[in-house]
Amino acid sequence: MTTFITTPIFYASGDPHTGHAYSGIIADIVHRFRQLCGEETILITGTDEHGQKIAATAQAHNTDVATFVEDKAADFAALWPQLAVQPDVIIRTTQTEHKAHVSKVWQTLAGKGDIYPGTYAGQYCVACEQYYPARELDGDCCPVHKKPVTTVEEASYLFRLEHYRQRLLDYYQSHPSLITPSHFQDAIIEQLKSGPLESLSVSRVNNAWGIRVPNDSNHTIYVWIDALFSYITAIQLSGHNSAAIAGAVHVLGKDILKFHALYWPAFLLALGLPLPEKLVVHGWWTIEGEKIAKSNPATAVNPGVFSEQLTADGLRYALVRQKPLSRDGNLALDELKAAINADLANNLANLVKRNNTLVLKHFQGELAATTKNQLDDECGQLLASCGQQIEQVIRAYRQYELYQVTLTLKQILDQLNTFFHQRAPWLLGKGQDEQHVASTCFVVSNLLRHVALCYAPITPQLAVNILAEQGVDLTTAVLRSDIELHSVSINGAGSHFQRLH
Ligand SMILES: [Zn+2]
Repeated sequence: MTTFITTPIFYASGDPHTGHAYSGIIADIVHRFRQLCGEETILITGTDEHGQKIAATAQAHNTDVATFVEDKAADFAALWPQLAVQPDVIIRTTQTEHKAHVSKVWQTLAGKGDIYPGTYAGQYCVACEQYYPARELDGDCCPVHKKPVTTVEEASYLFRLEHYRQRLLDYYQSHPSLITPSHFQDAIIEQLKSGPLESLSVSRVNNAWGIRVPNDSNHTIYVWIDALFSYITAIQLSGHNSAAIAGAVHVLGKDILKFHALYWPAFLLALGLPLPEKLVVHGWWTIEGEKIAKSNPATAVNPGVFSEQLTADGLRYALVRQKPLSRDGNLALDELKAAINADLANNLANLVKRNNTLVLKHFQGELAATTKNQLDDECGQLLASCGQQIEQVIRAYRQYELYQVTLTLKQILDQLNTFFHQRAPWLLGKGQDEQHVASTCFVVSNLLRHVALCYAPITPQLAVNILAEQGVDLTTAVLRSDIELHSVSINGAGSHFQRLH
């Protein structure tokens, strides 16, 4: 089965920031990991380009709205290569195919009576484009924007959310790890248990910038229906049918959990479609202690700037190394550089260079295959211990615990460095015999090949360079948990990661 790893469909009202970069990088890491395991996988990202707020922002910039979203979509598309994120499909909600798809979805839901005309009154935040129940408000302010909400009463089409409450509850209870980390799923289950769900307002009047409700052009379709179904439009554009949504792994920030964990599966159930495989929920970043906000230039830095300062590999590594996915974290450049230098430059790249230099100098780059039984006890113990840890790395990737991946990889490298130092292979002829040195470099080379593969989803360029010196092509390599011992053929000893200053 093909999996579809998705980022949120980013709202095209402003420039890309670190939060967007983070979602994109996590999705790309998951995508690359699955590819490396030999699985069929497609990475989807895109931009959500409709809604009152975008129309208002374009107007404030004296720009025609179509041109405005064109520019923003181009900004997002230009960001990905700078972060080594490689989407297969970039969907835009203004695409003709998508608009036709959403109209059809609407007609199906309306035809079944799940969408019906009514009125809706509520506290509305224009910036969020959503109504808030009184209990979620911060005084009379939006909990996200801290600005006063407005009371809006208007004609609206409504979606019968309550109709699907029990089925959603049953589904979540029978699929206990659909949302990771699990405390988010527990919260959704509590909400589903706590009583009837209000019908969801799914159309807007007074908003010309959106997809029109079929047969009632005074209304436009709620931007969240528009945005969520872009996942399926993208799946269709990749040549698969709608039911392939069963293979979707949605990466999302915790602020949009409700839309993905309540509304989205309810719409899918209403259409008779299967539910996604996984929701991977991540926390937020502050930058040098400050919340990311457009109004604060220090935090609104284009993430491409961080990737220039840290390299794409360095930035990707630092973002997953600094905190578990679901926690909030702070980006402090000095801390990130210290972690990158310690782990990637010293622990990994430097060991590769020292080992490869010795293999080239003493063995013309070639070490014959040796079986585990022919190696001394120290080598055997190292292989057994690193083998277990590599299994842990793969398990952590499978469970979306990318922080744990980096911790375990660091432990493996600590062990390899200690082994290398204690065995002192550079003392060949000065106290160490040739067999001892050959075994040392043979085991270290083989383990470094596995370690580089384990790093590849996070630091792809670094992995490509390290593997190339062993004659391994990353595009055809497969990551397995058992340690295979191959003959070693080293063709270079480059400096693969320059220390950051
Ligand atoms: Zn708001």
